[in-house]
Amino acid sequence: MLDLDTAGDTPILREYRAIKAEHPDAIVLARLGDFFEMFGADAETAAPILGVQLTGRGFGAAGRLPMCGVPHQAIAQHIRKLLDAGQRVAIWDQVGEVVSGRLVRREVTRVLSPGMVVEAELLDPSAVSRCVALVASHGRVGVAAFDPNTQHLELFEVAGDLDGAVVADELARLDPSEMLVEDGTAIPAGFAAIAPLTPLAGAVFDTTRAEERVRRATGAVSLDGLGVSAVPLALRAAGAVLAYCERAHIVISQELLRIAVRTSDSAMRLDAHTRANLELFSRLGERGSSLLQLLDATRTPMGTRLLRARLAEPLRQVEAITHRLDSIAALLDDRDGRRHLRESLSGMRDLERLVARCVQGIATPRDLGAVRETCAALETTGSVARAIRAGAEITDAAARCRAPDGLRERLAALLCDDLPATASEGGAIRPGADADLDNLRAAGSTARTYLAALEASERERTGIRSLRVGYNRVFGYFIEVPNAHRDRVPEDYARKQTLAGAERFVTPDLKEHEAIVLHARERAIAREQELLAGAAADIAIRAGALADAAAAAGTLDVAQSLAVVAEEQHWVRPTVDPSSNLAIVGGRHPLVERMLGPGRFVPNDLEFDDEARIVVLTGPNMAGKSTFLRQTASIVLLAQFGSFVPADEAVIGVCDRIFTRIGAHDDLSGGLSTFMVEMAETAAILRQATERSLVILDEIGRGTSTYDGVSIAQAVVEYLHDAPQLNCRTLFATHFHELTVLATHLPRVRNARVEVVENGAEITFLHRIVPGGADRSYGVHVARLAGIPGGVLVRARQLLAAQERERPLAGNGEHGSDQLTLSISDPRPNPVVTELASLDLDGMTPIAALNKLAELHERASM
Ligand code: ADP
Repeated sequence: MLDLDTAGDTPILREYRAIKAEHPDAIVLARLGDFFEMFGADAETAAPILGVQLTGRGFGAAGRLPMCGVPHQAIAQHIRKLLDAGQRVAIWDQVGEVVSGRLVRREVTRVLSPGMVVEAELLDPSAVSRCVALVASHGRVGVAAFDPNTQHLELFEVAGDLDGAVVADELARLDPSEMLVEDGTAIPAGFAAIAPLTPLAGAVFDTTRAEERVRRATGAVSLDGLGVSAVPLALRAAGAVLAYCERAHIVISQELLRIAVRTSDSAMRLDAHTRANLELFSRLGERGSSLLQLLDATRTPMGTRLLRARLAEPLRQVEAITHRLDSIAALLDDRDGRRHLRESLSGMRDLERLVARCVQGIATPRDLGAVRETCAALETTGSVARAIRAGAEITDAAARCRAPDGLRERLAALLCDDLPATASEGGAIRPGADADLDNLRAAGSTARTYLAALEASERERTGIRSLRVGYNRVFGYFIEVPNAHRDRVPEDYARKQTLAGAERFVTPDLKEHEAIVLHARERAIAREQELLAGAAADIAIRAGALADAAAAAGTLDVAQSLAVVAEEQHWVRPTVDPSSNLAIVGGRHPLVERMLGPGRFVPNDLEFDDEARIVVLTGPNMAGKSTFLRQTASIVLLAQFGSFVPADEAVIGVCDRIFTRIGAHDDLSGGLSTFMVEMAETAAILRQATERSLVILDEIGRGTSTYDGVSIAQAVVEYLHDAPQLNCRTLFATHFHELTVLATHLPRVRNARVEVVENGAEITFLHRIVPGGADRSYGVHVARLAGIPGGVLVRARQLLAAQERERPLAGNGEHGSDQLTLSISDPRPNPVVTELASLDLDGMTPIAALNKLAELHERASM
């Protein structure tokens, strides 16, 4: 096989080589007629990804050049496959007129990479696709996150390194589709799992060039007003993103572009564990749903994306949270208003992305039609929302939910009711909308009428009843005469094509009318395309106003969605205040409750105040400890995200962060043991939590031996209680009932236990949380529930009884004392073992040994 350089020298290959040299890191798709073709190494890479045959083009004795191709109609699905495989794709398309015998003009019209997508077929409507650039220098990291559709550019800086926890949390929030870094940057190991990484030349991260690019993109004369000077590293990252857009042929619109410098204290930081533990975006088990799915009763793609974005960063300011809660309350009060709002929102299409496609010049006739319909829906939604008596958020959104003046009318006057998928065949523009187009259509139609009548008149003239006028794409219009009547063909017929039973002819008159029809059609389509491009430009000029209206519709949609969920699930409005208390009455776990079905979930209370900072929750496995922990975190998160909550009453002092250490995730790929992961996560919490945090710790110390486990768990609770920077609201669940003694010497620790009813060997979980500590673990009972065979259970009970007799750990909370520490550091050896160890086996007869064994066995089984 040849490669691109050694293959022959056809004009098209010469051009292809030049394009390939400009885009060495992309697969170049060359439009040749109805196909997109790839050559050389690109073909070899792409063919298996696309599942198409790798063929070759012969160059005589020199050999064959690998190539493969895909039909142009199916191009979107093939681009998707290449992007999913981490490839970049350059589209080298035909842009000039196709004239036979001349090389068509071709240009690279788009360079697609995972973070630079605006094409509808390639985007997930429910998620934002972002390109995130990172610059690290001297212990700081600058971040620029850009959505090429809405053209929102978020800039911020954080302290730390690329592989630090803050960057990890921010990337989890941003959920990038592609990341850009300076060539030569040391890439942290975890990055590969986040998104494809694209290294760019250091020059595109240069400060001066970045300033210039931002100035050009925004049209700002000076950068002072943008606030970017406070984040110099993020500014450099922004320069790289903008340069990358240029390369991708993404048009930056001054109408759309919004640069926001983000300050760190506005939102609650959530780490990846907490996101996963609280099942924000995906569920943990096989069954049930994620919190996002539970909350999503949105009616528009803007609403769906906004809901997800808000859930990824709950708020910390009481006022902003209150505004969101006011909206839900108002919509709950106004049933009719809410119903009308839902109806009008349902008529809305993905305005944000429709506008983006108009800006990029890739809108189809149906996209323009969708803008027309959405303008109408915006008007009704706005007026419905203005009629609702509500707080600042809805009032403001209602005011912004408007279509630009006259846009809908202009689109309605221009476009047909039913629109074709593409502009290539015509039929998108309404008759009467444009005089030129009407004339072209009329000229074509006169000629078509002539052609339609021609068959009858020629039959008459020639006397051939079976004569027929037809059309095909290759030969155009023709008169077909069956061979039987060949001798009656008139003089002026010129032969064009011979078939098995017939001859096809043309006449000068036919040719002339054909030319009129075809030419008129071609010009009419060109004129239609001009008019459609004009309409798209008309929309692009108003992109700012339309994007603002789309965002307002999204806000209204999220509010109605949360109102619907609050009503269906019987949630209540939480009181969010600046205190550091937490009081929940009748709290439920939103997801477990839904899975169990109505009336089966047992609600529980919880209270933290200045006097009570740590709750040690004991109870057997399967009692509901973990559910209680998660529900508490979920309720706080829901409240700060601005939602009603699953409880009868809730007063929530704003938390700066929620830390969760729940369950045992094995980091097998990272080579860390369960216990190591557990300890690393606990260490991170102890270092990062503040007095405003909520800390949820489940079964700390489970991953090691009992004595290690109890000791570590105790030390962690003591530290949380005593370290002055901590003293944070902490829920600590453990099946080590020994830890209940902590409440006796740590004043701000409270004991709680999950109630179980014991009836002989049977226990029943009530899932009710009551004050006080559990006095035993019920491990053997749980083993029985799990189906461990009877013989094993009997033996386990024997062993347990013996152990409890021989080596009592500290008792329950009621008569607890410092004995705990004693019993851990000074466990008394079992006398049976002591005696066994001291036996002089060599000096014993077999009979004496057997007798001793029987005696020891009896003592051990007591
Ligand atoms: P633990 O953490 O104590 O081992 P879990 O929280 O995992 O226990 O709960 C075990 C099961 O008990 C859950 O899967 C759930 O079905 C049920 N459960 C837990 N809490 C409740 C509750 N408050 N009401 C009803 N069922 C509950």
